[in-house]
Amino acid sequence: MARVLFLGGLGRSGTTLVERLLGELPGVCALGEVVHLWQRDLRDDERCGCGAKFSACGFWRRVGALAFGGWHNVDVDRVHDLRDAVERTRHIPRLATAVEAPEEVHEYAEYFTRVYAAAAEVSGARIVVDSSKHSALAHVLRWSNDIDLRVVHVVRDARGVAYSWTKTVARPESDGSAEMTRYSPGRSALLWTAHNAAFGLLSRRGVPVRRIRYEQFLTDPRAALRELADYAGVPVTDADLGFLGDGYADLRVGHSAAGNPMRFSVGRLPLRRDDAWVRALPTAQRRLVGAVCAPMLRAYGYPLNPAAVPQEA
Ligand SMILES: [Zn+2]
Repeated sequence: MARVLFLGGLGRSGTTLVERLLGELPGVCALGEVVHLWQRDLRDDERCGCGAKFSACGFWRRVGALAFGGWHNVDVDRVHDLRDAVERTRHIPRLATAVEAPEEVHEYAEYFTRVYAAAAEVSGARIVVDSSKHSALAHVLRWSNDIDLRVVHVVRDARGVAYSWTKTVARPESDGSAEMTRYSPGRSALLWTAHNAAFGLLSRRGVPVRRIRYEQFLTDPRAALRELADYAGVPVTDADLGFLGDGYADLRVGHSAAGNPMRFSVGRLPLRRDDAWVRALPTAQRRLVGAVCAPMLRAYGYPLNPAAVPQEA
């Protein structure tokens, strides 16, 4: 049975960085955002984290062969139909309260669990990491009997998330002029609340959920990674954390299938908190996001007054 660490949370909360650091640990294989594999990789043949086109990456070719007898056997239209039928945020209340899931939920989950099991076998890893983030997918996966699912719920200050969503970020993997999606602060505030609440719901359904604050993670990455590794069941030694230096990480090439452009970073990556929003997010927007997200910001231990946010770790 594949052991899966699912990184969840609203986008721009730091899941890619957390995944990259986890991927450096022995016994861990980081897969990127598997939720996007069907469209962006199978259909659009975008680039893997290793730089090769998906179809040319040896790792993913072996995974496809083992999971499905070759990727050509995957009916991407069927995957998309299933996703539309079961993996939407609006389906979460139904997924969370159902006594038995509809057949489509099991069928959709099966596509993912086959990828996880094959990736574990090909890599020899004891745990695979899926940083798909989507809370609805985590609710789907909880119905699978074929995986040992452990969720890491990554939260970041809603105002930092909102600021990040207003910025333009190019998508290098598409080899075109495509940019990542942008959201207005009001919209991202609503999404932040909904997605984070969905992970709280998941934990009340008996799924192991470990919540981490991204800012806290960056304050002491060594201690934070050690705790996550324990949670994942792959305890690490000091030597295993040798890739972490004072304020940086040395990253090797990975095979992340999809996600934030940081998945292509190789070599020395600075690790520092990005609190630019404290100065750069206009006051009206900061207040709006703070008001919408106040109950959960408070619950997660974030100060409502940004002046109280430490500027440096
Ligand atoms: Zn690759």
